[in-house]
Amino acid sequence: MSLNIAKFGGTSVANIDAMRNCARIVINNPATRVVVVSAAAGVTNYLVQLANEELTSEQINELIAKVEEIEFSILRGLDSPAPVAAKLNELLVQLRELASHEEILHRPDLKDAILSLGERMSSLMFAELLCQMGHAAANFDARKVIKTDNDYGQAEPDIGLIAQQAEKLMKPELASTVLVTQGFIGSDEQDNTTTLGRGGSDYTAALLAEALDADTCEIWTDVIGVYTTDPRITDKARPLPELSFEEAAEMATFGAKVLHPATMVPAVRKNIRVFVGSSREPEKGGTWIAKNCDHEPYYRALTRRKDQVLVTVKTPSMLYASGFLQQVFEILANHNLSVDLVTTSEIAVSLTIDNPPNSVRARLNKATIEDLKEISEVTVEEGYDLVTVVGNNMHSAAGVSSRIFNAVSEFNLRLICYGANPHNISFLVKDEDSTDVIKVLHQDLFES
Ligand code: ADP
Ligand code: ASP
Ligand code: MG
Repeated sequence: MSLNIAKFGGTSVANIDAMRNCARIVINNPATRVVVVSAAAGVTNYLVQLANEELTSEQINELIAKVEEIEFSILRGLDSPAPVAAKLNELLVQLRELASHEEILHRPDLKDAILSLGERMSSLMFAELLCQMGHAAANFDARKVIKTDNDYGQAEPDIGLIAQQAEKLMKPELASTVLVTQGFIGSDEQDNTTTLGRGGSDYTAALLAEALDADTCEIWTDVIGVYTTDPRITDKARPLPELSFEEAAEMATFGAKVLHPATMVPAVRKNIRVFVGSSREPEKGGTWIAKNCDHEPYYRALTRRKDQVLVTVKTPSMLYASGFLQQVFEILANHNLSVDLVTTSEIAVSLTIDNPPNSVRARLNKATIEDLKEISEVTVEEGYDLVTVVGNNMHSAAGVSSRIFNAVSEFNLRLICYGANPHNISFLVKDEDSTDVIKVLHQDLFES
């Protein structure tokens, strides 16, 4: 029998009615044996505040009250809240303890422990809801299977161990029970809780699909598929019925928030088809992402990644250019920093780095820049967005790129990356321009 992993995002499990829609989707597909849920919408943001901000006890209480309001309203929506009420309260006690722990601001392990609570609460109640709707289900602790390193906040999964654990602990259950587990969280060698980075539940679903040899992985969210661009940028954006693995991977990497950047990696390794659709309107279908598509157009979609930093590293002695470049890239590698756009000249290297505010990444970026300053003169320019056109064979045909550059000729493109990859053309623009850049490009490439 075929196996499907279904993941439901934050808005899909935001309240009991939304959760019921998801439960129906699970019940209607007998192949769905594993369910991955996010924290209810808003909860992780509150937890991030509790983990990272210096707060008075009054502010802590206010934030916890907001989390409780969301969770208790889901609990009360169950036909019979009693079976999970005690467990939910236990998790809320843990939340209170961690939030007022005197080391919370300095201990990444405690931060991840707090962040994990949103998914642990929603999965508890989703499993119970399925049971109360007559479907055999159990809550399963993802930390037993999603083994990672201890890079808290951005932990790296151990694919081999995950496969072993899934085979041993999940597979035997699947014939009789739907396992409802948490996205986003895992555990390290010492069994400390870790997290996979914001939006990481998509990645969990794909990792479990890989580990369990699933046929399909469904990402249920608040839009009816992957669109030509973020529908919040332009109402002209339209859903795409199909995408290739490469196109989806590029879109995820370059900012299409609908998929966590790493989601496609496990899917590609095991050739697992991925579906993206709306849990509110499942009847409207969605996007199927597969190895090959019927049609591979030059232009498929536009993405945007905000909060990019342009770093220019300059040395008067570029005469030793190769040694200098090597030093620069060594520093980047030491901080595990991946760079999207790079240009070099006789005396300088410019590169863009992703800098989501309040993230682990932003802290690492600061350390990287300090190290670069040791070997050179460094200028840091903020306030940029990276706009990417995703498509196919983009540098193999005449006119494909010039059409893009003509469309945006009125805007100042600060840095352009073209030619390294047939699936994308990226450029850096001032953040105040990026919405217009995308609208103009969308009109030219997709609305005519
Ligand atoms: P979830 O909580 O279900 O994981 P997310 O908020 O992470 O949902 O992702 C869904 C959102 O991604 C959409 O509401 C949409 O605004 C945004 N998005 C960005 N780019 C795209 C795109 N190309 N297609 C569809 N949605 C996109
Ligand atoms: N709850 C986590 C977040 O908000 C993970 C996820 O939703 O995918 O980032
Ligand atoms: Mg998401």
